[in-house]
Amino acid sequence: MTIRFDGRVAIVTGAGNGLGRSHALGLAALGAKVVVNDLGSATNGSGSSSAIAQAVVDEIVGNGGEAIADGADVADEGQVAAMVARAMDKWGRVDILLNNAGILRDKTFSKMDMEDYHKVMGVHMTGTVVCCKAVWPIMREQNYGRILLTSSTSGLYGNFGQSNYAVAKAGMLGLMNVLHLEGAKNDIRVTMLAPSAVTRMTEGLLPQEAEALMRPEAITPGVLYLVSEDGPSRFILSASAGSFARILLHETRPAYFGDGERTPDAIAAHFNSVDPHKDVLFMENAFEQNKSLVGAAAEKHGFSVAF
Ligand code: NAD
Repeated sequence: MTIRFDGRVAIVTGAGNGLGRSHALGLAALGAKVVVNDLGSATNGSGSSSAIAQAVVDEIVGNGGEAIADGADVADEGQVAAMVARAMDKWGRVDILLNNAGILRDKTFSKMDMEDYHKVMGVHMTGTVVCCKAVWPIMREQNYGRILLTSSTSGLYGNFGQSNYAVAKAGMLGLMNVLHLEGAKNDIRVTMLAPSAVTRMTEGLLPQEAEALMRPEAITPGVLYLVSEDGPSRFILSASAGSFARILLHETRPAYFGDGERTPDAIAAHFNSVDPHKDVLFMENAFEQNKSLVGAAAEKHGFSVAF
């Protein structure tokens, strides 16, 4: 198997810098036609410039690839619709969407003002939903789509000073889980990336001795796998410095407490003794979880439930 993207059209948001730039170059090098989207804003989301997206397009074209630059703000439905229309006019399809655009407004929760929260949610979460929504009917019609959501361990595991960003990045999980289920019949696969790389966004925050390893280019091959034809769906890739791991959300096996045993103290005692790393279950969807919990209760009552 050799992963290639010949004949495929990809949109990469926030592709003027850092990770998005690397992903756009990587897709183009393997044959994809690429919309290089970037608003050209500062790390805190202020300002705009069309120059950086164009510079990446020039690089792709200089390497013999095909690309167009687009300056849409991912949070603006009209601008995103126009971007998708440009891709359709030029190439007639959209196969891959890499949601990557992002900003930071780091502050502790006590110091964060709501404007920062709305701005961060707007770019990361709303921007991702707006872009997914704009390509969704096209991917359904084509019976083909590969969508990547860029999450972060800040949302999945927590990071001091990043409550606004963490809410947005954890929100990707909900979006992936549902789009994975709803897209399956049209071969639309949805995955998530939790990267860590040296970019302008993380400048000065990472250990200096690791910086040489933590290039965006050390992550991109994992992204290319995720959005490839035989790539997975509902898969969270953890990636940094050329190392890759899969992130999974697990749930411990349910314990049933009958009437008379179901006290707060009994439940506390149970969780004090449960090892959260052992005997865990992986849920395919929300119904699976219902089946697990209600099933354990029904078993104690001597019957089974068909969900
Ligand atoms: P970066 O600042 O180098 O690149 C982000 C790009 O997004 C910029 O070029 C910016 O102009 C663009 N952008 C910002 N707002 C936009 C908007 N509204 N519309 C279109 N483009 C917009 O940052 P990066 O480190 O390459 O981050 C890329 C993604 O990866 C982000 O979503 C970030 O949250 C995520 N991420 C990065 C790291 C890391 O270690 N660098 C870790 C976890 C997650």
